[in-house]
Amino acid sequence: MDYKKILEEIYNEIQPYKEIGQQATYIPELAKINPDQFGMCIDSLDGKSYSLGQSDKPFSIQSIVKVFALAMCLHFEGDKLWQRVGKEPSGTSFNSVVLLEMEKGIPRNPFINAGAMVITDILMDHLKNPEEQFLAFVQELCGNKNIRYNEKVAVSEREKGYLNAATVNLLKYYGNINNDIERVLQFYFRQCSIEMSCTDLARAFLAFANHHSPFRFGEIQLSSSQVKRINAIMQTCGFYDEAGEFSFLVGLPGKSGVGGGIAAIYPSRYSVAVWSPRLNPKGNSVMGIKALELLTTKTEESIF
Ligand code: GLN
Repeated sequence: MDYKKILEEIYNEIQPYKEIGQQATYIPELAKINPDQFGMCIDSLDGKSYSLGQSDKPFSIQSIVKVFALAMCLHFEGDKLWQRVGKEPSGTSFNSVVLLEMEKGIPRNPFINAGAMVITDILMDHLKNPEEQFLAFVQELCGNKNIRYNEKVAVSEREKGYLNAATVNLLKYYGNINNDIERVLQFYFRQCSIEMSCTDLARAFLAFANHHSPFRFGEIQLSSSQVKRINAIMQTCGFYDEAGEFSFLVGLPGKSGVGGGIAAIYPSRYSVAVWSPRLNPKGNSVMGIKALELLTTKTEESIF
């Protein structure tokens, strides 16, 4: 497959979409980002890498981090985790609290904000220095020791984070948070603030594409079946109330973030990361989704 040529075609064909949508303005630091940027990187399991545009520029990975947090949490907690978080798509936006009251504080899945906060709380129960140990795991996954939290983004999100604060309060009320809620929010926002490039993300997601090989990064280990299940949750819940549309258009398990990044995998073949800050109304990158749709259409490679 000539991925290099396909990437060039994709770049030309996404140009008509370049002014659609806007960056995440509800996080003041992200509102300052130049929205007109695009990068993409494919890493194949046979060791090749193909990139396009600003593939080495770090950006705020936001909710893509929830995949890494789930992986770490599954290592510590195993199937006990599913007593505190579900694994069903929510059909609601990433920050919705509407189901949380109806379902008595058990979030639908680990990728909506409420679920990620429960995961954050569980990690805090297992880790002595949560921020440090979590960052070390992400650095191992992408093989880049320079990955950092962006403190400014985390603080700016906390300042306007009324809905996330409401969410963690509701979770605490229902007894699904053990730790101090302010501390949970702080760690959650820091995770979301991690900056990575498409190159870093593609490398990190290769471990999920490669689910037949051992997943072992530092002390964090998962079985092939656990990695397969993380991929299943990406497929069903990775794009919130646009998960069906993403399956329909792209047909790969993936995860988006409001920084404009999307990481996806083709199991046993490749991982791909794409970034463009302009988002659609559901909080997913306009050009990112289009680029991935073109990738799986042109290559005729998707899980379906
Ligand atoms: N930090 C963001 C939030 O909590 C993450 C949301 C996202 O990327 N979808 O609102």
